[in-house]
Amino acid sequence: MSDPPETFICVDCGGTAHLISFLPEDAPLEPGTPLAYRCSDCLERFDVVWEDFGEN
Ligand SMILES: [Zn+2]
Repeated sequence: MSDPPETFICVDCGGTAHLISFLPEDAPLEPGTPLAYRCSDCLERFDVVWEDFGEN
């Protein structure tokens, strides 16, 4: 089980988008869980559906 990144590069402005969703620390993240990120530069919000790509 891999973890989602805390940040990624904003596709709109090249700034840093930060994870704003609450993640439970003692439970694995279920594939299909929606994650929200917000860019600290342009304040764009990105909603990403988490998939576990590390299982193969
Ligand atoms: Zn941005």
